[in-house]
Order: sequence, then C-alpha cells, then structure tokens
Amino acid sequence: MHKADLVLKNGLTFEGWLNELIENSGTKATVTTITTGIKPISSETYENSSDPHAWMDANNGLIYIENIKNALIQLAPQYEQEFTFNYGLYKQQIEDLDHEISTQIAGIPDSKRILITSHDAFRYYGKRYGIQVEAVLGTSTDAEVQTSDMVRLNKVIKGSKVPAVFIETTVNPKLLEQLAKDNDIQIGGLLYSDSIGDKDSPAPTYLDMLRYNTKTIVEALSREVVIGDAEEENQANNFILFGILAAILIGGFLLVFRRLNQA
Ligand SMILES: [Zn+2]
Repeated sequence: MHKADLVLKNGLTFEGWLNELIENSGTKATVTTITTGIKPISSETYENSSDPHAWMDANNGLIYIENIKNALIQLAPQYEQEFTFNYGLYKQQIEDLDHEISTQIAGIPDSKRILITSHDAFRYYGKRYGIQVEAVLGTSTDAEVQTSDMVRLNKVIKGSKVPAVFIETTVNPKLLEQLAKDNDIQIGGLLYSDSIGDKDSPAPTYLDMLRYNTKTIVEALSREVVIGDAEEENQANNFILFGILAAILIGGFLLVFRRLNQA
C-alpha cells in the first residue's frame, strides 16, 4: 500500500478495513472509488448503508471500467490511447455479455425464476436481469442467521416449487444444504459472489464469473422436477412390461390349445 501509485476501491460500505489501511500506510497513491456513478441499492440489513455487490449487474460493470480507465489515464497520460483502446474492447465484451445474460435468464420458466442463495449478493443481478432473489443472510456474510429467515425461505420454496437453491464460494454452505434437504430439492451449484475464482477455476475473470454464474443458475432452474418425471417413466415402463407378459401368456395358451385340438 505504501508503494502504490493508485488504489481502486469498490466503495458502497464494502471495505470497512481499507480506509484505515490507506491512512496508516502513509501512501501518496491516488484513491479512486470505482462505483462512483452507479445507482446504489440500499442495504436491507443495515440502515444508511448501500449494498456493495454492484458488479453483479454487467451494466454497472461498464461504469466500473470507465472509472478505472479514467484513473489510469490520470496516472499515466502518455498511454491514454492504449487505455482508451483497451477500454473500448472490454466495453464491447461486457455489453455483449449483459445482453446474453438477459436472454438466458428470460428463458427460465416464469414460476421458477427465483434465485435462493446464502447471502444477499445478487440483488443488482436480480434487478437487472429479472429474477427474484432471496437470501438466508443479508448483504454481509458475518451476520447471524435468524430462525425467521429460514421460515421465510421455506415458505418461498414451498410456494414456488423452485427446483434448486445455490451455495456460494465465500459462504459456509450448511444453511443452504439444510434448506435443500428439508424441502427435498437440489443444490443447483456453486456461485461466485464476493470474489472471482483463481486461475484454474471456471471463473478466473469478471466476464467468466458472470457467465459461469448465469449458466449454473439457468441450468438448475430450467431442469424439470426429476421425481415427477421418474414416476411417469416408471409407469410407462410397467405398462409395456405388462403388455409383453400378457402377449406371452396369451400366445402360450393359443399354442397349447392348438396342440390339444390337433391331438
Ligand atoms: Zn457479499
């Protein structure tokens, strides 16, 4: 921190520890808040504070990268052309992905378009892409879970027949596993919420993270309810089996009957 030229911070009350670190380090770095210009969603858990997970909406991602580009140009104006060029490429990729996510989420059947996760990291995502979000914890992963939260989520699951809930890379999966077990539904997969993955993970970049999360959500929520399908298939199989047995029996009778007649 002491040697840094530029410090980028998310802002929106996310990095409580960071301001102190900046102050204590004695750094001369420029400090840029990269969420400047986004429309914050206020936290449901804490009064007068904002939900920090703004990057989950790719349209907000565009504001982040613009702020980063401007900060870099201010730091090294001799590279303005390069920064601006790279920014343009990245902007296009984010815009394409933003559009793709909208289309993908719209493909989930209406009644199943509910995203249930550990903590409230997907409200920007839900708002942008049209999916209802529910979480056991609030916007912070440190909060204590209340029995009323579990009751509320059990109600949502029972009322909607949503086929899956999701665990997160940065939160203990215990509560969600309990919810899934209690309601006899599936864990839809692992979502990246507060951080991208490392380089061997399926989400090593911002774009990969959004793409991977979306794929995981769409696949799990679009799945037909497996139990019902299996029952129907079993019934069909039984029907065919009975048919074959009946044919063999009748055939056998006819054969015996003809033999007897001939004799
Ligand atoms: Zn979070």
